[in-house]
Amino acid sequence: MVIELKNMYIGETAEIISINSDIPEVKRLRDVGLMHGRLIELLHYDHVVSKKIIVMIGDSRIAFDISVANAIKVRPLKSYYEVVRSQAMLDNLTNCMNRNYASCMLTAEHEKFVSKKVPLSVLLADIDCFKKINDTYGHQVGDKVLKNLALLFKQILRRSDVLCRWGGEEFLILLRGTLIHDALQTAERLRQSVESYIFPPFNESGSVTVSIGGCGLPPDRDVEELIGIADSALYEAKHRGRNRVSICGEK
Ligand code: GH3
Ligand code: MG
Ligand code: MG
Repeated sequence: MVIELKNMYIGETAEIISINSDIPEVKRLRDVGLMHGRLIELLHYDHVVSKKIIVMIGDSRIAFDISVANAIKVRPLKSYYEVVRSQAMLDNLTNCMNRNYASCMLTAEHEKFVSKKVPLSVLLADIDCFKKINDTYGHQVGDKVLKNLALLFKQILRRSDVLCRWGGEEFLILLRGTLIHDALQTAERLRQSVESYIFPPFNESGSVTVSIGGCGLPPDRDVEELIGIADSALYEAKHRGRNRVSICGEK
């Protein structure tokens, strides 16, 4: 489907199909990459006040007049629906799944357990003394720690695992098809990876640690109970001195 650039939705990505214009401005825009075949993302379109359009090409933001935009035809690649859908699913700081999405997945996984006996384990990981990091180094450093921790976790987890930002500095991990014995090993690997990673701006490892609580899904537990038990296990890990893993049923 080919449409005019001005009919794209903000956030949509499209391929430029043609630019038919003699306006000198077009030549300048060609020099900076606005040409046939390029991918663009629409960032801003104001036809009332500024009469400007702003698009992203590669790493560059380009602003130009709507008269030029009128001459550009594009083929949308990422639909508005997809953009909104990913915004509804993801946490925008860490790019992990958000709590709402994880809750839906939990329910779905619980149903799979009930009907097909597919096991499920959950882990709750909470950064230790995070308030102190914020208070000492500032909120922006705290944000960076959250982003890096999510990246670190993603490197360790499997594709079938779901990493979710459950709240503030707390992450929920759904280990689909995983028994609690294996979940314990994953939790320990996550904990160790955080302990040994040098988080910027710190220049040594051990400046950031996590405590992790976890539990699995035996036949008589529902979803709320599962999270509640993982939370109690997390509390126990904190109580035992932090930077440790506590799994329900494991001592
Ligand atoms: P504990 O080891 O018991 O978990 O201690 P803690 O300091 O990590 O826990 P506490 O609940 O006292 O503090 C959590 C802090 O997390 C307080 C809050 O300001 C901070 N926080 C929550 N969300 C964000 C965020 O998005 N960015 C930043 N930088 N800080 C956040
Ligand atoms: Mg904490
Ligand atoms: Mg917390």
